[in-house]
Amino acid sequence: MHRIIAAAAALVLCLPALGQAPRPAIQVTKVDGADGVYIFRNGGHQAMFIVTPDGVIATDPVAYGRPTGGADYVAEIRKITDKPIKYLIYSHHHYDHIAGGKAFKDAGATIIAHWRAKERLAVVQDPATPLPDMVVEDSGTVLRFGGKIVELSYVGLNHSDSTLVMRLPQDELIFLVDLVPVGTFPGLGMIDFHPLEAMESLKKIAAMHWTRMIPGHPGQPGDRLGTKQDVEDHIALQQYVSDVVKAQARAGKCWNPAEAETQFEKYKDMPGYANGRAYTVRRYCGFWGRGT
Ligand SMILES: [Zn+2]
Repeated sequence: MHRIIAAAAALVLCLPALGQAPRPAIQVTKVDGADGVYIFRNGGHQAMFIVTPDGVIATDPVAYGRPTGGADYVAEIRKITDKPIKYLIYSHHHYDHIAGGKAFKDAGATIIAHWRAKERLAVVQDPATPLPDMVVEDSGTVLRFGGKIVELSYVGLNHSDSTLVMRLPQDELIFLVDLVPVGTFPGLGMIDFHPLEAMESLKKIAAMHWTRMIPGHPGQPGDRLGTKQDVEDHIALQQYVSDVVKAQARAGKCWNPAEAETQFEKYKDMPGYANGRAYTVRRYCGFWGRGT
């Protein structure tokens, strides 16, 4: 009898662990050891924002398919500061990261992006995603505001043709979107991926001075930030999958049966592998089987 009660008590004690509260859709986290730097997460996307004494520098609204996402992001910033939201920086032109900029524009922000992002957004004219007010040339620029320095660097073609690497030298941080998955296999995006040039970009990013990377999708495990080791690991991953698909392409197996059958044995246990495998084969079949 006592044993049954004890077992029942143990079961009750275990329940909170088994049935953990669902992860909130929206979450704001202050980055430890960095001055005024926060991560805004909405679902599986995230962005960096910086609170300075003079106002806020925000990045990526991450509101694609989330009609209130831009306003929700502004509201989260407003819980921390009533200073003006001065800048919104688009990491690249893909809507899953930058749709929702309108809420920031309405709040008075100046929108900054790489010049090619502006060209692409001008063609599509999404009402939720205003065109940039200022563009960054390939030579990059440095934003100095409220005592913060934000370097905006273009490191060439890679995941897109408009990606900006945002580096905070005072905090040894970078915000980098979609180029280096942190602890996960590359996902389903990247249809406009440039395989050879991406390797050069990755090497340039590895050579920059920083210690922690805020990724555009939460790192695994535990929403962790990225490190230089993640960049090195990703270079190795891209080289490996490229070599595997190159052999398939030379054997005449692209697109199929390569896409249906190719496995990347070294990465089979990595989170995201099941979803990302076929897209990765397609991506490299597109290169080794067709050229770019
Ligand atoms: Zn993207």
